[in-house]
Amino acid sequence: MVSLKQMASGHTDRLATDVQYLKGVGPKHAMTLRKLGLVTVGDVLWHLPRRYEDRRHLPLVRDLRAGEAATVRGRLRGVTSRPTRGGKVIIKARLADASGEISLVWFNQRHVLTQLQKVQGEIVAFGVVKEGERYQLEMASPEWEAIDEDDDPEEFARLQPVYPLTEGVPQWLVRRAARSAVEHFAQDVPDPLPASLREAQRLPKLAWAMRQIHRPDSPKAQEDARKRLVFDEFFFLQVALQMRRREVKQEVGTSFPISQLAGAPASGANLFSAMEDHHSGDLWEQVHAILPFELTSAQRRVVGEVWADMERPVPMNRLVQGDVGSGKTAVAACAMLAAVRCGYQAALMAPTEILAEQHFINLSRLFEPAGVDIKLLVGKQGSREKKRAMEATANGEAQICVGTHAIIQEHVTFHKLGLAVVDEQHRFGVVQRMALRQKGYGNPDFLVMTATPIPRTLTMTLYGDLDLSVIDELPPGRKPIKTHWRAPNDRPQVYAGVRKLVEEGRQAYFVCPMINESEKMQTQAAEDLFYRLKDSEYPDLRIGLLHGQMKAADKEAVMDQFRRHELDILVATVVIEVGVDVPNASAMVIEDANRFGLAQLHQLRGRVGRGSTQSFCVLVADAKTEDTRKRMEVLVETTNGFVIAEEDLKLRGPGDLAGTRQSGDVEFKIANLVDDGPMLEVARRAAITFLERDPDLSHPEHALLIDRVRERRSDEALIAVS
Ligand code: ADP
Ligand code: MG
Repeated sequence: MVSLKQMASGHTDRLATDVQYLKGVGPKHAMTLRKLGLVTVGDVLWHLPRRYEDRRHLPLVRDLRAGEAATVRGRLRGVTSRPTRGGKVIIKARLADASGEISLVWFNQRHVLTQLQKVQGEIVAFGVVKEGERYQLEMASPEWEAIDEDDDPEEFARLQPVYPLTEGVPQWLVRRAARSAVEHFAQDVPDPLPASLREAQRLPKLAWAMRQIHRPDSPKAQEDARKRLVFDEFFFLQVALQMRRREVKQEVGTSFPISQLAGAPASGANLFSAMEDHHSGDLWEQVHAILPFELTSAQRRVVGEVWADMERPVPMNRLVQGDVGSGKTAVAACAMLAAVRCGYQAALMAPTEILAEQHFINLSRLFEPAGVDIKLLVGKQGSREKKRAMEATANGEAQICVGTHAIIQEHVTFHKLGLAVVDEQHRFGVVQRMALRQKGYGNPDFLVMTATPIPRTLTMTLYGDLDLSVIDELPPGRKPIKTHWRAPNDRPQVYAGVRKLVEEGRQAYFVCPMINESEKMQTQAAEDLFYRLKDSEYPDLRIGLLHGQMKAADKEAVMDQFRRHELDILVATVVIEVGVDVPNASAMVIEDANRFGLAQLHQLRGRVGRGSTQSFCVLVADAKTEDTRKRMEVLVETTNGFVIAEEDLKLRGPGDLAGTRQSGDVEFKIANLVDDGPMLEVARRAAITFLERDPDLSHPEHALLIDRVRERRSDEALIAVS
């Protein structure tokens, strides 16, 4: 029997045609196209334009304005090159049309010179217009191409696609291949979306979209075509994520008998009446007894969600997102307490030793009075201490194990690990999370926590297979951190301000920037600042130094001193970025703040404002660029991590931000998370409805869709929680 999929592959075979058979390509050009990875007609069709050039109404040179991007058409006058002092070369040409002239300038692109010298007729050039020497307009390093005299004028005067290229592949060749591919093969592109879905979403057919994306009839048509392709990209990913999510929910996990824990359901007079329905009153009372503060209502809600997950017989996969200082550790503690009281072990994995150590100190303080045994396991521990921790973990004596990557090493075993908590989870790769999972007793419950305020659009793409809880409230009594942006010249006032706070009994951080990703240079910068402050600025104050190249024991010693208020000032590199919690520290001075990303600055600033006194953050930065100015202003204006993340996304683009995840980034060919956020939401809802009707894609009409979903399923992101 011939399946629908096989029938469809009749089309696909045509798309597998070698590019050399495309009109105007041939074997020689086919070799050139190979450099771009374009081997088949299908490859050419899916090699999408990067932008378009509207050649329907080109401006006259006379009408150009500095600061605009523009395309101009004209003849070349005088192509010259001259060497620079540094041994490079500057190439200049003038482009003239009936109205005037503009200079075109290239730096050190010798091949451009040879190409320009060959030009006979007119060229088009695209670039940003600037005011050059003697107020003459010029374009620096414009994209350009010679106009083929034989081209019909109508072919010229349209929205021209501009394709991504690589060294040695000319624009005209890709255009020619694409044009021919669209003419003869676009109708063969099979449409994976069933007609009903397409109609419901008011999307055009894929073949039409393919034609219009390469050779748009109008900007509107191009936009509609793009929409269709963006929808597809999001939709297949969302179907894959939702399927993964369903599968996880069918796995067998531990059901923690939280509601059957000893003790009667709490009486109505309980403080936490909102959560009474879980009959976990006894556990709430225990939480109440061990925590030195009342949980915020957001924390209570999230703990309720976590406990409810833990009670279900499927493995929990929950992401807790909460801004810096929102109190995620307390939520983790509640989850771990539940696991322990139900007779299981819990593990907490943190990305740095400082953080693991701090969690250990804080959690010991809470748990030890309650008779819970808790052990620390980090790489640089002494071998005897480590051995003891490992034995206790293996035989079940340790009920909670806190550590770094050390806890996922091969020789570490657990007696009965029921709950794994991963703090600052974006710092860990997929492999590490999987290793932790494998240490579990069956499928352990997973709670992952992140302070990186990932915008909702990104959360959905990156973690669409996790359940999400958001702690959207800060503990009470916090005064919003006052943030100031100061120029380097203002340092004396900044230093005086810090001194005043220290004299009032507060502590301060000074952070110096990352330089070239080099740990060594970073250390150097921190040491310089440390000695400068110690020798000339604050000889009378107690100053400590913390950087990544110090021995673990030394780092711990310094952190301890700072925690115990035996130091007034801590000079540090970004090693303190994540999680460090010293409530008495109320000033944060960030040197060369322009060298940090927005999200990183926000994290750093989050080290203060953890107590009840007014905290300050001073960004010392030169406003050399507009971009710096904008970033500093965002921080001064808001302390809301989500707002900052959105701004960061706008300023940097999603590539960078997604890069805060160490692995498993989802890549998009055409969609752009900054602009297409709303479409992502549409696609997600469509995917959920779609799967409700056909959960395992068994409907014959969905045969074509399977391949596209499968491609997405092999993305690393989808095994983020596998
Ligand atoms: P983060 O979410 O950044 O990991 P932490 O868990 O480190 O935040 O908590 C930040 C600080 O707030 C800690 O000093 C913690 O003791 C305190 N804290 C957490 N929850 C509360 C609460 N409900 N009331 C008062 N203080 C709290
Ligand atoms: Mg934390």
